[in-house]
Amino acid sequence: MPDRYLIVGDGIAGATAAEKIRDEDEKAEIKIFTDEPEPLYNRIMLKTYMKGSLPKQYTRVHDENWYDKRGIDLYLNTEVTYIDSDNNRLETAEGDEYDYDKLLIATGGSPRELPQDQGYENLHYMWTMGDAEKIKNSAEDAEKAVVAGGGLLGIDLAVAYAENDCETYYLIRGDNWWHRGLDSEGADIIHRKLEEKGCKVVRNAEINDFESEEDEITKVTDNNSESYQADAVAVAIGQTPNSDLLDVEKNESGMIKADKSLNTSDPDIYASGNMVEYYSPVFEKRTVNGSWDHSEAMGKRAGINMLKDLNGEEPEPFNFVNTYGVGHFRSQFLAIGDWSGEAVSKNYEEEDHYRRLFFDGDRLVGAVMIGYTEGQEELKQLIKSNKEITDKSKLF
Ligand SMILES: Cc1cc2nc3c(=O)[nH]c(=O)nc-3n(C[C@H](O)[C@H](O)[C@H](O)COP(=O)(O)OP(=O)(O)OC[C@H]3O[C@@H](n4cnc5c(N)ncnc54)[C@H](O)[C@@H]3O)c2cc1C
Repeated sequence: MPDRYLIVGDGIAGATAAEKIRDEDEKAEIKIFTDEPEPLYNRIMLKTYMKGSLPKQYTRVHDENWYDKRGIDLYLNTEVTYIDSDNNRLETAEGDEYDYDKLLIATGGSPRELPQDQGYENLHYMWTMGDAEKIKNSAEDAEKAVVAGGGLLGIDLAVAYAENDCETYYLIRGDNWWHRGLDSEGADIIHRKLEEKGCKVVRNAEINDFESEEDEITKVTDNNSESYQADAVAVAIGQTPNSDLLDVEKNESGMIKADKSLNTSDPDIYASGNMVEYYSPVFEKRTVNGSWDHSEAMGKRAGINMLKDLNGEEPEPFNFVNTYGVGHFRSQFLAIGDWSGEAVSKNYEEEDHYRRLFFDGDRLVGAVMIGYTEGQEELKQLIKSNKEITDKSKLF
């Protein structure tokens, strides 16, 4: 009997794992379940699609034929609701059951909702193609918008409205956009770039209250009692993990915990992609990451490790340094690795060029680059190498 692999989630992590398993085992039975109506598309490209500057077909990564050709069974519109790990079986919302030898959970997360949300029709969150379609239409129609969330996804929403000539107020919690990784000098470049696009950045502000008419928000009030008329509101304040279906060890935020080989507390269940906490040998600590390249690499590693595991071989550790880019401006923005170490930054004489490096003692663990992105591969290799850096200034 062929080995049976079940994969929950057809994002880049799930689809890559399936591909890898098929590359190594032509007989394996591979099934992927997704609650979405279409096969894998590129979420990064949704930011260009929702601005209205990229036709939908360019977001496609795989069509159904891709799965057919590889003998991978794809179940669209199929939510997995329960995993019976005692009997190695999953159950779908329709009540269908499937058995597995190894299971991969690659379900990612869903946008966190505002506590003030009363189901308003013009309040938007962003993650799926369906969300992007609604935001695209809303950005085309709206004259005034409020966007909240000073992170890597919030900026995409702010730019989508501003580039559609919508009067856009962008509310960010602290003084700086993406304060997790930027100081005020770096964030000021991004604020300026946003203002050049017509987006008004409102610092130290978050949504406090709404006024509405017939299920539509008409006015937003922030925590400083400032009010903004709005035809549309879009919010990106984090994600919650899609992990309820599974009873394995999780962290305090509900993220599935995995070891360095991406195996969960259940030996037959692996996890990969966004919202998975694992032990990273590169950073020598437990970590969570949410980027496309990271999820893809995780899917690949988990696929290979599930195969190895079934064949009685030792699974290998997941050793990866991630990258995240924001491509809305002429100056590139790139974030690499871990942004929690001791930070040293430099603003270059040329306008809009900035670099911030993060160290754990004498070791480089992360970098943020604005403008100049040359040398990014070298920085990644340095992070991976665990080398002692004696002269930090040389890295600028
Ligand atoms: C607008 C936007 C811009 C982005 N920009 C960048 C960028 O510039 N650079 C970058 O690196 N990353 C970017 N990202 C993030 C990147 O796209 C994600 O990190 C990556 O797609 C995560 O892939 P994943 O496979 O881990 O999870 P997901 O893509 O979230 O896939 C999980 C899938 O599982 C499905 N699922 C969940 N629960 C169930 C269930 N119970 N049953 C069946 N199916 C289920 C979900 O519907 C989903 O399709 C961006 C994301 C967005 C939305």
